[in-house]
Amino acid sequence: MLSIDTIYIDGRFVTPHGTEPFDLHDPATGAVTGRVRLADEEDARAAIAAAKRAFPTFSRTGKAERIVLLHRMADAVAERRGDLLDAVIDEYGAPVSRAAFMVDYPVNVLHEAAELLADYPFLRRMGTAEVSMEPLGVAGLITPWNSNAGFICGKLATAIAAGCTAVIKPSEMSARQTQIVTEALHAAGLPPGLFNIVTGRGDRVGAAITGHPDIAKISFTGSTATGKAILRAAADTLKRVTLELGGKSPTILLDDADLSRAIPLAVSAAFMNSGQACIAGTRLLAPRSRLAEIEALAKAAVEAVCAGDPRDPATTVGPMVSRTQWERVQRYIRIGVEEGAVLLAGGEGRPEGTEGWFVRPTLFTAVRNDMTIAREEIFGPVLSIIPYEDEEEAVAIANDTIYGLQAYVLSADTARARRVADRIVAGRVLINSLAHDPKAPFGGFKQSGIGREYGSFGLDAFLEPKTLLGEGV
Ligand code: NDP
Repeated sequence: MLSIDTIYIDGRFVTPHGTEPFDLHDPATGAVTGRVRLADEEDARAAIAAAKRAFPTFSRTGKAERIVLLHRMADAVAERRGDLLDAVIDEYGAPVSRAAFMVDYPVNVLHEAAELLADYPFLRRMGTAEVSMEPLGVAGLITPWNSNAGFICGKLATAIAAGCTAVIKPSEMSARQTQIVTEALHAAGLPPGLFNIVTGRGDRVGAAITGHPDIAKISFTGSTATGKAILRAAADTLKRVTLELGGKSPTILLDDADLSRAIPLAVSAAFMNSGQACIAGTRLLAPRSRLAEIEALAKAAVEAVCAGDPRDPATTVGPMVSRTQWERVQRYIRIGVEEGAVLLAGGEGRPEGTEGWFVRPTLFTAVRNDMTIAREEIFGPVLSIIPYEDEEEAVAIANDTIYGLQAYVLSADTARARRVADRIVAGRVLINSLAHDPKAPFGGFKQSGIGREYGSFGLDAFLEPKTLLGEGV
């Protein structure tokens, strides 16, 4: 039984002031595998104080020094690849096929921040003025469980590139991954206080961070509801806020698409990360003229999805992270049936032969865009086919959502796909692809968030422009 009873403050592993225990589970079986001692508000305040002490010195470091640090951090996390891989599979239930990406990503994102930093113009000439991009101060980084190591390293990498110090509040459900990453970063020998990690509850530790006057910036990934609560809490001290929230991404299948290519891509877009992805393409917009064909192929593809043991290389959909998430997905499947959507594959319950928090990969058709399953983020392997008459209607349905994080357009005619992509209100639109580019901004329109991560836009968000005018400038 794993026991995690330290947090990381001021360059040291310390026993938290908080005493609340939290059980870790293996989502593939539901069994308890470990116990974490959670931090509380007092721990959050100690972490913020340490980061505040470290800021004046760290904010004056130059590019070269930070670049060395970032590469050193990447190498240290890479050293723990094997441990992290086990943790991502055992603690989160990531299928091995996905887990490899999830443990390489935190390493890559640290190297990428170093590369970005090398070319980033901190000093700019604008008219007669000199403008310098100044680090904001102590950053509060609040992360969820669906890619814990990646979010910690991604947000921290950007904060450090900017010259900020950080207090990180990860999800307590990912405490083992957090512990491994923390040990790696500790081994990298960073200055004390530069980063601090307090694993505790969102409504205690998270809220203490978002309300604290010494936190200048919040970078949050998670639900839209919590994002709104954070924005309200941050308002009192006018913190800068980046919010990466939910989505209900459309996959627009145009009537000329090669279905043998498009359907597997659409199913992968929907079920990536076991469906626990903010960018999942969960609304499949299908031309009515080809509906029967699309339904048959999509049904076959979803029925062929292997949902089960995360350690089986054939598995692409693992368990949901927790009982709460499992119940949430079950509820949405139930609502889909009650509201009149037609179940083509899957449904409530578990796949045969599984225990734990597995969901049956599920496909609905005859879904209307006003149904709950088309409007709300489900965060599980549930795909809804929404028929449309013509391109105009496809675009209208795609944009008829409170979200605007990502969209997919599938067509044999890339010029046509491009024209459709130009009309979609979303932070990213992918054409016949599931590509990612870490140099390009990532984030959402509308209620999918505020601000952007990655690349120079992501770095800008940890900086504040300061203008110098007059003699000697
Ligand atoms: P939350 O948004 O509640 O959790 C994300 C992080 O925020 C966790 O670390 C959480 O801590 C923390 N948090 C919670 N409340 C506060 C608060 N008041 N102040 C500061 N931090 C807080 O997501 P859930 O885990 O509850 O998941 C529910 C749904 O959210 C999912 O089904 C999915 O739809 C969406 N989601 C979206 C993600 C994305 O990638 N955009 C990621 C995860 C979830 P704690 O765990 O202790 O509550």
